[in-house]
Amino acid sequence: MRRILLVEDESIVRMDIALILEEQGYIISGEAGDGEEGVEMAFKLEPDLIIMDIKMPKLNGLKASKIISQKLSVPILLLTAYSQQQYIDKAKESNIVGYLVKPVAEGQLIPAVEIALHQAEVSSRYKQEIKEADERLQKRKIVEKAKGILMERFGYSEDVSFNKMRKLSMDKQISIDMVAKHILKKYSSRTLEKTSK
Ligand SMILES: [Mg+2]
Repeated sequence: MRRILLVEDESIVRMDIALILEEQGYIISGEAGDGEEGVEMAFKLEPDLIIMDIKMPKLNGLKASKIISQKLSVPILLLTAYSQQQYIDKAKESNIVGYLVKPVAEGQLIPAVEIALHQAEVSSRYKQEIKEADERLQKRKIVEKAKGILMERFGYSEDVSFNKMRKLSMDKQISIDMVAKHILKKYSSRTLEKTSK
């Protein structure tokens, strides 16, 4: 179930959009009537998508989007009147994935929402893959470092160091990078500094 936060100061517009979305099976997890409230609710609810009006009291939709985008990677669809399209170019640093021109028709709203959600999913999967690759690299670096410590401290060859670590890992039933961490922790920080350079 995809949860959407609606931020729009005109309650009639909000209601219209909420009705269309709910009919299509989306959940409106919150409705805010101005930019400030929109930011608060975004942080509290962490929705899958935000539909955000530009012209609103207290805080406009562009500023609110920018604040939200600094903390959350939630996609934002802007609601705009024709005269406001000029602002959209200024919104590049925010997670704004598109805009809808009011009055919003169902045939326009649903595809825009679908595309925004799909793009967000793809990009979050991509970010996750990068994160995992980075974690693997970090683990490999730790194992290399620990191996270096064993070689230096005990005069083992590279193979022997690695085999000792692997044996420990199997005996203790912990991953080899955990073994490496223990080795790094156990032996002096001087050795650690030397090997990390
Ligand atoms: Mg407005």
